[in-house]
Amino acid sequence: MEFYELLEQWFARNGRDLPWRNTRDPYRVWVSEIILQQTRVEQGRDYYIRFLKAFPTVGQLAAASQDSVMRQWEGLGYYSRARNLHAAARQVVEAGKFPADYAGLRSLKGVGDYTAAAIASFCYDEPRAVVDGNVYRVLSRCFGITTPIDTTQGRREFAEMADMLLDRQRPALYNQAIMDFGALHCTPKSPLCSTCPMEAMCKAREWGRVGELPVKSKRTAVAIRHLVYFILEEEHGCFLIRRREAGDIWKGLYEPLLLEMQHEADSDEAMAALGNWLSENAGAWGEEVDLHLKESVQGLRHQLTHRLLLADAYRVRARGCDAERCKAPEGYRWVSRDELVELAAPRLVNRIYEHFGMAE
Ligand code: SF4
Repeated sequence: MEFYELLEQWFARNGRDLPWRNTRDPYRVWVSEIILQQTRVEQGRDYYIRFLKAFPTVGQLAAASQDSVMRQWEGLGYYSRARNLHAAARQVVEAGKFPADYAGLRSLKGVGDYTAAAIASFCYDEPRAVVDGNVYRVLSRCFGITTPIDTTQGRREFAEMADMLLDRQRPALYNQAIMDFGALHCTPKSPLCSTCPMEAMCKAREWGRVGELPVKSKRTAVAIRHLVYFILEEEHGCFLIRRREAGDIWKGLYEPLLLEMQHEADSDEAMAALGNWLSENAGAWGEEVDLHLKESVQGLRHQLTHRLLLADAYRVRARGCDAERCKAPEGYRWVSRDELVELAAPRLVNRIYEHFGMAE
């Protein structure tokens, strides 16, 4: 039996019934594929349903504000996905129709080879093989490919192999089958080799090298950043926040006053840094304000792909400061507590609000 037949047989018995599998609407499939980049299926499913409830059509997504799109994405991470989705929805509306083939899909913002192949095959039966982490793993193990997957040579080799193996009569079925097989059966840590339909042909199994494949050439260094947040509250219960801009993580999300340190800072050092910052950035009131530390939380950890964020947060009362008289420093503004928790924020910031009992 051919590789694709074994896969499709396996899929007929074990494939997952997922909400985006019951549609060939390219908008819905596209939303699901963008959500599923970097997100587990179980978590992605709820976001998918909520996102489509908020924006049932590409036109409604295009017409929405960036804040409302970010709000729906809140907690999913990798926020550039949401910004690209929003920008691409506007591209589609401007063009007047959804792209109907791989090349057209590939021209949308945030749509790479994998996503274009997925939409083109699932919605239009175009014979395009998907290559994602699951596919790398299955192919490298089954066919004994030891070329590192994070090299140009590796990417080319795997793409050619995937294209050669594709079931050209049923590309949608085949692509779903290989992705599910990688996600459920040939898993990274505990592949189910003894019940595997590919066992007789699997090179990694024959060589006893299952755990070593696929090969990566380098490990990415993880940088540590020390963040210190200040929930700065003026006399009438308003808080200082800003919207994060381009050039760093979390663009478009909102956060309280943030000072980034070179090293871990204790509370005396943090409060001194806040005083200095206000006197340099807030004008006259920043020099006179009486800062009163109410509560704090230290040592929050937040892992991103290439960064470990270590965060402390301080809830500080700015005595003698009121929002009407005291102009917010550049880039910041005063907001009520309701607005503060309503605006889309990074998960780390929401954890801080929760810690201080502000999220209810
Ligand atoms: S035998 Fe094991 S390693 Fe090989 S394809 Fe099957 S599950 Fe994966």
